[in-house]
Amino acid sequence: MSRPLRVSLAIPVYNEEAVVPELVRRTTAVLDSLAGGPHEVVFVDDGSADATPELLEQAARQDPRLVLISFSRNFGHQTALAAGLDHVSGDVTILMDGDLQDPPEAIPGLVDCYNLGYDVVYVQRVKRKESWWLRLCYYIFYRLLAVLSSTQLPLDAGDFSLMSRRVVEEIRKMPEQHRYLRGLRTWVGFRQIGVPIERSARAAGRTKYSALKLLRLAFDGIFAFSIVPLRAAAILGVVAVALSTLFAVYSIVAKLLLHQSPKGFTATILVVTFLSGVNLFFLGIVGEYVGRIYEETKARPHYVIRKFVRQQASSSVEAATRNGVAEVWSRRATPTGTD
Ligand code: UDP
Ligand code: MG
Repeated sequence: MSRPLRVSLAIPVYNEEAVVPELVRRTTAVLDSLAGGPHEVVFVDDGSADATPELLEQAARQDPRLVLISFSRNFGHQTALAAGLDHVSGDVTILMDGDLQDPPEAIPGLVDCYNLGYDVVYVQRVKRKESWWLRLCYYIFYRLLAVLSSTQLPLDAGDFSLMSRRVVEEIRKMPEQHRYLRGLRTWVGFRQIGVPIERSARAAGRTKYSALKLLRLAFDGIFAFSIVPLRAAAILGVVAVALSTLFAVYSIVAKLLLHQSPKGFTATILVVTFLSGVNLFFLGIVGEYVGRIYEETKARPHYVIRKFVRQQASSSVEAATRNGVAEVWSRRATPTGTD
């Protein structure tokens, strides 16, 4: 290799004060153990209300390898990951959660795979330590999405992954608001490989993903990577028309040849209510796609940065937020942009 490999970690954190000291300790220990350099960790504080940003700022002021980006409010995990990707400078970037469910000690193994020629090394989660119903939901979701999606998405692959510089640059160009990063990463292509790693329990604190947030992420995955739900409406419509035509033919035959009049008030009510339910359901599905188009056309910046801390170069960007955002946005829109 011509020059030493520089590794960047991008870590979103939201109200993780209980984990931060351990997180900093374990990630910096891993940086110490890696060959090459200089390496860096970009922490993205997703609008935490606790002491997370202060603790990280303190750490960033002591260690030049640590960078802190603090959002003006909570923009969500996937957006925080995007901000991390926008600000890393390494030859490879590793995305990982800040609650130490993704063991930092696995990073050298991911880098080894990169050195074998892979552009994306994603971690497949085996033996999750979450509740049985959550594990069941994850299991069903990944398989459902794999069936629905037009891109071949690997099963049980979360955000914990290594990406080469060129993959990161491709992802930066993607302007979409509703980001399902593990899908975008697959979409980019190049050589990708999955490595199975046991998912630990949280080091401390509680999950920041409510059931609603998880559901939203699942919808982002489905609506961003599949139009099967729209097609399903058309297929169901064809089936309903075919059935009602058959029934119409039967009714005419029954009337003319068998002299029977159609009966069944209850059946009529059932059919009417069932079909209006199906209609409304698919109206909702179409609405979901339309709503997403609407949100994309607004083309708002994805996040607003409150504070950016790199050792001895801290800058409060409260006043300059708009410029900061414009810069991030234009970088997204400009294929050649780099940090
Ligand atoms: N997180 C975030 N913004 C949010 C929710 C979560 O940055 O709105 C971070 C959180 O601090 C953690 C990672 O995203 O580092 C994954 O979240 P969490 O562990 O709560 O999710 P789970 O692992 O339970 O699905
Ligand atoms: Mg977690």
